[in-house]
Amino acid sequence: MDAQPNSPEARDIRYHLHAYTNARKHQETGPLVIEKGDGIYVEDAAGNRYIEAMAGLWSVAVGFSEPRLVEAAARQMAKLPFYHSFSSRSHSPLIDLAEKLVLMAPVPMSKAFFTNSGSEANDTAIKMIWYRSNALGQPQRKKIIARKRGYHGVTIAAASLTGLPSNQTSFDLPIANVLHTASPHYWREALPGESEEQFSTRLAGELEQLILAEGPETVAAFFGEPVMGAGGVVVPPAGYWEKIQAVLAKYDILLVADEVICGFGRTGAMFGCQTYGIKPDIIVMSKQISSSYLPISALLINDRVFEPIADESNRIGTFGHGFTGGGHPVAAAVALENLNLIEERDLVGNARRVGAHMQERLRRLAVHPLVGEVRGVGLIAAIELVADKAAKAPWGSVGALGGLVNGLLQDNGVITRNMGDALAFCPPLIITEKQVDLLMQAVEQALDAAA
Ligand code: PLP
Repeated sequence: MDAQPNSPEARDIRYHLHAYTNARKHQETGPLVIEKGDGIYVEDAAGNRYIEAMAGLWSVAVGFSEPRLVEAAARQMAKLPFYHSFSSRSHSPLIDLAEKLVLMAPVPMSKAFFTNSGSEANDTAIKMIWYRSNALGQPQRKKIIARKRGYHGVTIAAASLTGLPSNQTSFDLPIANVLHTASPHYWREALPGESEEQFSTRLAGELEQLILAEGPETVAAFFGEPVMGAGGVVVPPAGYWEKIQAVLAKYDILLVADEVICGFGRTGAMFGCQTYGIKPDIIVMSKQISSSYLPISALLINDRVFEPIADESNRIGTFGHGFTGGGHPVAAAVALENLNLIEERDLVGNARRVGAHMQERLRRLAVHPLVGEVRGVGLIAAIELVADKAAKAPWGSVGALGGLVNGLLQDNGVITRNMGDALAFCPPLIITEKQVDLLMQAVEQALDAAA
């Protein structure tokens, strides 16, 4: 990139280390600097408009220009810009949000706990689980099982849960006590001739074998996203969650549903747990909780988790955990208004209706020579790109084709994200059918250009 001296691009290259970026290559290619948002669109410094087909980072449910969230933030900022929840202190936005989340939970939940990011929330879940095991007099019950291809964040514990090599290589992760079982990626990992049900049965069997090999009394919890996001939008195969939950119940293992992407409408129901009949003990939520206008995340815990925590904190004198910004009043006020908007405007229904249209349009692409699989539910989907459909083989190295099509789309005014060769679509929940059609036209053009 020939960045003008002192331009935002030049200063970005000079001063900023990017998240999830090849830091050396960035010195040559430079950033895409986004300046403005408008509905499902964002605009760069040169005035180019893009359909934000990833809702930012799977997160901006209400679009990029919602005045009611701006007003909610301004009102709360003027009234009480900061307070916290340490030592029994509280404030109205936090109380209102805790009540709302517990009441809207897909299964009976007892309490909400607030954090700032999905990673912190997952770290917190692990700490709660360990604390609980100690409270129950089961100090050996500390192992956590997550899944290959799962994504739970990047802090030391959350990155250990994450089952993707790039989050662990050279970071000396995972930490002890975190194990990984198979991913439910049917298209990629089923045996020849295996049905979805058979694949799910095999995976549940593998989970049970892992639990037995480790010793069931040492396994505390299982973490999973209802639909895997960053692992390539992996939709669970038929029977998967039912069979996995039967194994967990057999050995009294807690289930943590990471709803950071699925939560608040993405799958066409308020929670992914409802779409797939999941009954967790802990729900982790973030992103669409506030449409990411401000950072906030939360855990909902049931009485199986809360009661022992209450006992142990009583024994020690405190539950020694919490973040300065956890349940920040401005973020909580924005989250509340955002959840009100999702309900008032029936954005969950929109995700279901317009999502069905998006899924149908994407499935038409299955015949394209570069498309190996189309998968998704509601307003989340991926197309897996291949050079050879029969062999499911990549084009050169894994990610080369995904990167190429992603780049072509950006040149044509669409921002998406390729995870390897899986190209993801996760637009704001406000998207219309007409806008989906525009998006799909651009995708078809990019695929044809790459073919
Ligand atoms: N869990 C899931 C399912 C996610 O998709 C993400 C982020 O993409 C996280 C956790 C981590 O969230 P954060 O980036 O806010 O730490």
